[in-house]
Amino acid sequence: MLFDSHCHLDFPVFDSDRDQLLEQCHRAGIKHICLPATEQCHWPRLQSILGRHNSGVHIWGALGLHPYFLRSHKDEYLEELDQILSQKPENIVAVGEAGLDLLIENPDIERQEELLAAQALIAAHHGLPLILHVRKAHDQTVSLLRKLRFREGGIVHAWSGSDQQAQAFINLGFKLGIGGSLTYERAKRLRRQVTELPIEAFVLETDAPDIPPAGLARGQRNTPLTLVSVLSIMSGLRQFPEKALACQLLNNTRKALKIPS
Ligand SMILES: [Zn+2]
Repeated sequence: MLFDSHCHLDFPVFDSDRDQLLEQCHRAGIKHICLPATEQCHWPRLQSILGRHNSGVHIWGALGLHPYFLRSHKDEYLEELDQILSQKPENIVAVGEAGLDLLIENPDIERQEELLAAQALIAAHHGLPLILHVRKAHDQTVSLLRKLRFREGGIVHAWSGSDQQAQAFINLGFKLGIGGSLTYERAKRLRRQVTELPIEAFVLETDAPDIPPAGLARGQRNTPLTLVSVLSIMSGLRQFPEKALACQLLNNTRKALKIPS
């Protein structure tokens, strides 16, 4: 049984064949998928597809404001987020994607930190973990979360940090999201980290339709089915049987998102 901890199945690129894709996921052993949000205007779209799908795949979600779309976020959306979460909506298991991204154009780090801090406080208030998007800002993210005494943990999606940064996030109770990047042989550091860090530190993800795995052309749509090859590569690298690894990673994801079995 597999859990795609990070996938954007609500994006319109999946509108034409979402149901068939979910059937395929179910057949491939992918039984849980978590959809993190990007912008407030898309929260209703995301919420409308949560729950148990006909195929049997359970779709969970997170609500939040993604740093990549910095310009479209307004302060009032934070209040709205807090209000929605107060109603304890079914199948919403985290706040996110939230985080810091220094690779975007005009990154306005102060505003990014303000939005991340506000979302971390909202998450803490509702006892929810965070799904973090972090690019070239791992140290800043760690120090911000430490300063806020954030204790709910969560997932650092599309893990790309150093060994030290990995340990800092693990100490804060976070898991590291491993996806399509692992399929590239040139991903030397990631491949080494996947073999050296404790197995409890990882969860699987695809970030579909983004982050195409090796073999898929840039710009081509990625899907949650990529999870199967990521698992197989991880199993080879760690010399750990696939089935047992899948089971461990599923438990890690449940733990990170506080989903009881
Ligand atoms: Zn994402």
